[in-house]
Order: sequence, then C-alpha cells, then structure tokens
Amino acid sequence: MKPLFKKPLSLYLLGILVLLFLTGAIISTLTNEYIILISVLGIEFVILSMMLLYVYNKYLKPISKAVKTVEELVQGNYKARVRYAAQGMIADLNQNINQLARSLSELSIQEEMKTKQLLTVLNNTESGLALVDEKGYIHLVNRKFLTIFNKKKYDYIGYLYYDVIDNEEIQNTVQEAFLYEKNIKHSFTLSDEKGDVYIEVVGAPIFNERQMLKGAVIVLYDITELKQVAIMRKDFVANVSHELKTPITSIKGFAETLLEKSPSDKMTEQQFLNIIYDESSRLQFLVEDLLTLSTLEKDDFHLKLTTVNLSKVIADLWPIVKQQAERKNITLNLSMEKEYKLEADGEKLKQVLINLVGNAINYTSDQGRVMLTIDEIDQFIRINITDNGIGIDQDDLPRLFERFYRVDKARSRNTGGTGLGLAIVKHIVEVHEGKMTVESEVNKGSSFTIYFPKKPTTTNKKNSHSLETVIE
Ligand code: ADP
Repeated sequence: MKPLFKKPLSLYLLGILVLLFLTGAIISTLTNEYIILISVLGIEFVILSMMLLYVYNKYLKPISKAVKTVEELVQGNYKARVRYAAQGMIADLNQNINQLARSLSELSIQEEMKTKQLLTVLNNTESGLALVDEKGYIHLVNRKFLTIFNKKKYDYIGYLYYDVIDNEEIQNTVQEAFLYEKNIKHSFTLSDEKGDVYIEVVGAPIFNERQMLKGAVIVLYDITELKQVAIMRKDFVANVSHELKTPITSIKGFAETLLEKSPSDKMTEQQFLNIIYDESSRLQFLVEDLLTLSTLEKDDFHLKLTTVNLSKVIADLWPIVKQQAERKNITLNLSMEKEYKLEADGEKLKQVLINLVGNAINYTSDQGRVMLTIDEIDQFIRINITDNGIGIDQDDLPRLFERFYRVDKARSRNTGGTGLGLAIVKHIVEVHEGKMTVESEVNKGSSFTIYFPKKPTTTNKKNSHSLETVIE
C-alpha cells in the first residue's frame, strides 16, 4: 500500500498514456478511421484523467497526509496533527490519528513531569547517588555526589566508573555488589582543608524482572556527624571514668590505711577522715552534675516555667555565695535597680547564678571583687557577673562550655570543681532560649553575661539539644 500513496502524480499520468497507447493499438487493428480512433482515445483520456483526479483528491492525497503524520508521531513529534479536510472513512481515520496524537502528547508530558520530579528528588536528597549499568558505564549522578567530589556531571556520565571515580573503596564496593549480587557497605574518609568527612558507601545491585543483573546504584552517606557523636560519646565515657577514678582511688587508699593500721595520733586520723569526706563530696557533686546534665538532655525534659521574681532568687542564693566570698575575703556586690520578673524555671535560674557567681569567687584571688548586675534590655533580662580574678586565655574561651573542660585542672579540682558547671549553665540558658557571652583577660578578670527572654516563646520548652550537640 505504502508505495502506492507515495508515487508522484506524473507516474499515474504516464500509466494513463500507456493505457491510451494500448487502446489505440487495439482500435487501430479494428478500424482505419482516424477520427473514430482519436475521438475514442480523447474520451478515454478525459474519463481516465477525471477518475485519477477524483481518486487522488479523495483517497491518495488524504491518506498520504495521514501517513506523513503517523511517521512524525513514530519519530516522537507528538505535536503533529492531520489537518487535511476529508470525508467518510478517511475523515474518521484522521480524527483517530489526531486523538492518538493528543493522547501520546499528554502521556509524554506526564512522563516528562515524572522524570523532572524524580530528578528533583534525586538532586535534593542528602545522599550522593550514581547509577552504573551492567557494563560499568555511569548513567546518572546526583548533585550531592558531585558536591562530595567537587566534580561536574560531564566528568562522569558515559564513562566507566573505575576510570572516573578515583576512590578505591567505591570501586571495591561496586565490584563486590556485581560479584556477590547483594548490597555491599564500606566506608572511607575524605580530607580537605575544612577537615575530615566520613562517608559510608553502599553498592546495591539492580535486577530486571527476570532477575538478571542490570547494573548497580552507588549511594554515599555523609556520616561525619554520627562519627563525631560516637567519638564524643567515647570521650565522655573516658572523661567520666577518669573523673570518678581519682576520688575513688583516694577514698580507697585512705580507708585502707585507716583499716590496716590505725594512725597513732588523732590528728592524722582526723586528716585522713577529712580527705575521705572531701573526696566523697567531690564524687557526690560529680554525680549530681552528671544527673543534672542527663535530666536536661532527656527528650521529655520540660522547664517548669513560672513567673520568677529575681529579687526572690537572689535572696535565696545570696547567703550561700556570700559565705563563699567571705571565706576568701572577696567583696561581693549586687546591683539591681528595681524588681525584675521573667517567665523561667526558678530552680534552674538559681542554679545558673550559683554556678557563675561560685566560679567568679573560685577563680578570683583573696581580697578580690565580684559584681552581680541585673538589668533589662529590650525583651531580655540581662545578668552580668564580673570578677577581677585570674581571667581566661582567649585560646581557651571557645572550649570553655565543653564538659570537663578546665583551663587549669589542678586549680579547678582544688576548688571542688567538677568541670561540668558551665556546660550545665549553657544548657539551661539554651533551653530558656537565652544567649550567653564571655569576655576575659588573663590576670584582669572575667565577665559572663546572660540574656534571658522575659517570655520564652514556648511555654513548655522541650530540650532539643542532644548531649553532643551542646558541645561546640
Ligand atoms: P569547674 O567546676 O572546673 O569550675 P566549670 O564548667 O564551671 O567547671 O568551668 C570550666 C572552667 O572554666 C574552669 O575550670 C575554669 O578554668 C574556667 N572558669 C570558669 N569561670 C571562670 C572565671 N570566672 N574566671 C576564670 N576562669 C573561669
């Protein structure tokens, strides 16, 4: 059929001429009358030409237009339509072809949208992804994958994975995924000027419906944060063990001595008992501070927010800190020009002040000065504790709020410090949605300022910081 519609009109005309010639040849054997011969041939020519024109216009031309449209559709141009006006069956055919074209066009738009959505998802996922076919050629890499290696798409697409992915762990993962036909997991570290990045790579084989291996997906997870959390957890356990070990060893040693041979003089015995008492107090403080931290970090921790009158808080804690200050002849002053109230957890607020004023006294030499100033600034209550003590080196400031961080370990221990006070303070300030700043100069003194919002936005603030994220 197809060539019939494709033949040019001149060929059909040639056919008519051949027919006329044959008719002429047959008639010339029957008569010698040229007039009859020419008349018959003339009439035949006119009839055949009219028939040809009719068939051409009615069938051949519309069908060839329809065929052209179908060919365009086959080639993927879903916008092609038959626009030739026809009647009867050809009109039905054209209508159906146009309907088919519309459906195909809709399908292709949907397909395009799905592909775009899929690519958007792939490009916005937090994991690096690459798709390798069964021969090892890379077909797809997402944005995260490119960011991890700082490369461009065209550095990978169409290349063999082992030629362009310059990482032994990834290469081994893909090879093993192909070899064992199961998910394979490895990890590696990338180092740059910003530090180490820990990556976990998973190679997952892809199978078709007949369970034949068709390729593999490479998935890269950035596990740096998890790794750091694990390191911090290990450090924390090591620190706690170390902190517990010293007083326990001391208590055990002195108790053993007392048990084995009671010291001859009462003074030494009293001295040993005092040491045991001090060390067990240290243990108690340490355990109390650890419990406070763990309570603050519990998922279901809620602040007990009430309207707190700061004068009342100060009145509660003043005798405690005053006594501490008097022992060292330190002048402790308070400046609070009026009554301040805020929405806070009163007990926690008191704990913050005891810790900070306690530190100011501990880290200031005898005869020194400690000043507690309370005022307000915008929507915040500002509490400042300034001392003229030993001060803190600028290099130590960034780590000051880490658990167990002490500038001078021996001095902290001598003053009964656990190294957890500032970590607790920072935590309490954060759960109150407050801010904290420190300024310090060695041998000149330190100044800690806390800003507590008068009304925190959440009334039942849940602690959103994990043990590890609090440490910077
Ligand atoms: P500690 O129980 O050892 O006092 P903190 O967490 O309260 O633990 O404080 C951590 C460290 O910060 C202290 O060991 C000390 O070195 C330093 N520090 C805290 N407050 C002051 C201060 N006012 N002046 C000087 N150093 C301070």
